Amino acid sequence: TGKFVVGGNWKCNGNTASITQLVKDLNKGEIDADVDVIVAPPMLYLPKVQSTIDRQFKLSAQNCWVSEGGAFTGEVSAEMLADANVPWVILGHSERRALCGESDEFVGKKVAYAIKNGLSVMACIGETLQERESGATQDVCRRQLQAIVNELSAGDWEKVVIAYEPVWAIGTGKVATPEQAQETHAGIRAFMASAVSQDVASKVRIQYGGSVNGQLQELAKQEDIDGFLVGGASLIGDAFITICNSAK
Ligand code: 13P
Repeated sequence: TGKFVVGGNWKCNGNTASITQLVKDLNKGEIDADVDVIVAPPMLYLPKVQSTIDRQFKLSAQNCWVSEGGAFTGEVSAEMLADANVPWVILGHSERRALCGESDEFVGKKVAYAIKNGLSVMACIGETLQERESGATQDVCRRQLQAIVNELSAGDWEKVVIAYEPVWAIGTGKVATPEQAQETHAGIRAFMASAVSQDVASKVRIQYGGSVNGQLQELAKQEDIDGFLVGGASLIGDAFITICNSAK
């Protein structure tokens, strides 16, 4: 499944002073050559980070619009990200699904449109606590993925990393156990084999996200965990570097 891939999702955090410091701290870090590392600052600070961060970090936006730009106040289009040399975008984050009303279908269309414009996508899926407790975890992941599968051709999946982020683990300090994460990741890969192809299933990288900051080696060594998507700990330079190097 290719290189280990770690994303840092800064969410809506920081200001000029703190982001300047964070970039300095990240630039001091030594990252294993065989890890893809991607940071996602708030949209407004992307150019600043782009001009100051070391080339070992790739850049991502945290969202973009579903189609061509135009009269969509407040939005940024995939074309604009490509034009600004931002190669990645996070789409379908649970915060956008829950707080901004993004549906499975809308997220599927966003992923397709971003890829059409040459972007690579970290596509987020994951169940709520209530869904986990009712035994619906795999069904929810499959439903969210199916909406993306519906919009993509098999070749498009080269541009996608799947981020499995159980909502109950995001920002709660409750990291999924390595067994819980592995079980869901294996289910996601099995779904990809049946819904797309064995080839895509074996190549697509699946990140785990949700309070990633400890148990790193245990999580990273699970067969179907190919990286992490990190929120809170990605705002702390040395903590994030440690996570990036956890797959050794
Ligand atoms: P935390 O690492 O803060 O739990 O956030 C995870 C996340 O949502 C990354 O996209």
